Order: sequence, then C-alpha cells, then structure tokens
Amino acid sequence: MKAVVFTGPEQISITRVPDPTPAPDEVVIRVAQAGICGTDVHIYRNEYLSDFPLIPGHEFGGTVVAVGREAGGDLAVGDRVAADPNLYCMHCDFCRNEQANHCRNWQGVGVTRDGAFAEYVAVPARACYRLPESISDTAAAFVEPLACVVHALKRLPVSPADRVLIIGAGPMGLLLVQALRHSGASDITVLEKQSARLQLAGEMGADALIPAGEAQTEALRARAPYGYDVVIDATGVPAVIENAFAYLRPRGRFLQFGVTPRNARIQISPYDLFHNDWTIIGSFALCYTFLPAIDWLAHGVIRVERLVSDVAPLEDFADVFHRFAAGETLKAHIRPAG
Ligand SMILES: [Zn+2]
Ligand SMILES: [Zn+2]
Repeated sequence: MKAVVFTGPEQISITRVPDPTPAPDEVVIRVAQAGICGTDVHIYRNEYLSDFPLIPGHEFGGTVVAVGREAGGDLAVGDRVAADPNLYCMHCDFCRNEQANHCRNWQGVGVTRDGAFAEYVAVPARACYRLPESISDTAAAFVEPLACVVHALKRLPVSPADRVLIIGAGPMGLLLVQALRHSGASDITVLEKQSARLQLAGEMGADALIPAGEAQTEALRARAPYGYDVVIDATGVPAVIENAFAYLRPRGRFLQFGVTPRNARIQISPYDLFHNDWTIIGSFALCYTFLPAIDWLAHGVIRVERLVSDVAPLEDFADVFHRFAAGETLKAHIRPAG
C-alpha cells in the first residue's frame, strides 16, 4: 500500500509498504480521511514519544476491510468506523480508576505504532466506534479532536451564564467556540491574531471578536471589566499563556488546552492565585469521550466542514504538512485513496 513514513527526524517519505494484516484482536481499516494535527508536527520534529520509522496519523475514519479471528465482537467488514488512537492497557491503576488517559502502558496509533496516513491501518477492534450515516468522512476525522474538546469541557464544567474568553481560533479553538455555545455560557469572546480565523469564530457563534495586538487589553477590559469567569488557552504559546491570567476574574477558572513545548515555563504570581481564588485546570487528550463527540457530530451540534482548508491526496502530504506546520492552513486532511 501507499503510505507516508517519517523515516527519521524531519524526514518524510511517500512510499510503498506491505499491507497490514490484522492480529487476532485487530481489524484493518481502509482509511477514508485523516487529519493533520499539531502532534504530528511535534513527532516530525522528534519532540514527542515516537520512534522512527513511523507512519503517522491518529485522527481518522474509514471502513473495516478485515477482521482478526478473535476480534469479531459486533464489527464486520464494511462497517464505517472511527478509532480511538489511544490504546489503554485496562489493568493499570489509572485504567481501573476511569483515568485511562494517564494509562501507564499507553500506546498510540500514529504515535507509537503505525497510523492512518496510509491506505490501510490496523487497530485493535476494541478501539473502534461504528459511525452513523449522518457522519461524513470529514466529520469522522474530527471525532478524535472533538473528543479532546469534550474531555476539556468535562474537566471544566461551565456554570450557567459564565463569561468565557478563548485565546486562539485555530481548528481546536473553533471547535471550542461551538461546544461552548451549547454549554450555557453567556458571552464567548475570542482573541486571535489572524483576521480570517477571527471571522470564522464569529460564524461559529462567538459573541465578541478581538484582534490580538496592542489594543487587545483595552478591548477585553471594555468587554469584561472584572475579567472573565473562564479563560481558555488554545494557542500553546507560553508568552500568551503567561499574559492570559490578566484577563481572569476573581473566582475564575483557567484552562490549559493548547500544547506548549515540553520545556516551556511561565511566571505566575502565587499571591494572585491565592488572592483571586483562581483555579487552574489542565486537559490532556481524551478519556472515554468518543461517544459524545460522535453524537455531537451526528446531530449537527458541531459543524466541521468549514474548519477544513485543504484536502489532499497522500502524494501531496509533504507540501500540505509543511504549510500546516507554518500556520498557513486551517485543518488539513489527507484522503489516502485520492
Ligand atoms: Zn491530534
Ligand atoms: Zn492502563
């Protein structure tokens, strides 16, 4: 089959590799569409957990084409599925305590084993979720990132009428805008430097759009004089995160959603944290949140088609990947079958 292979740090090869065959507990999926994500960029730069060579790709949907002999369950050839790339051991303390995203024996499709930027991918059957007809190939490739948003909102319950500031309107920020629109928030303000993204945030339901720049603090103060009940970082930029606390109201909750470089550091005043009754929340990946993400997409609560700026065949992976890494695309998808 054709596949994208990261042969080493910062090395991309589009090549032919043997078709995967399913282990007894696995199925093989013909990949319909797969999303490029910031994690893939970290893997490419050797900043993440992966070894090389690796076929990346962890946000995908497709059709089951082979079923391992012990993988039956309720999956059959021809089923359309999305697969949770996070493979949990189910026997460590975290898996046994409903905290599987902290599994001590975690493996990741497209991270520690071959992923979906290929015509076919093998995954354990237990990781697969059957998709309703109403979910398009594009939406199927959004189940995984949206499941991360669901996890974040479970970590951060929004209280009725909370005022929310989202910093960053990339694909994840734009999913957050839509999800928060349905959360009971009274005001959703988006702060973003790219005007096209800001405009899209408005179309996705944001109430106030503030261009990032010198005038941002004045504009944010005018909108929320005491600050926001909830501030969410969806940029992963350390300097932006450090500054974000300036917009947090007393009793406010700060959510770190964007992924920073691993060695990033910020300064925060412990006195401010104490004096303002602040809460700081992290949200890592997803945790049993595939089903709610599928429901949101199936019912049109979250719309993803406009978040995709590029859909490319496998052969064009390197070009679209570099443009994505440079921030020149919104969500970029690959269709391995063309
Ligand atoms: Zn991802
Ligand atoms: Zn585990």
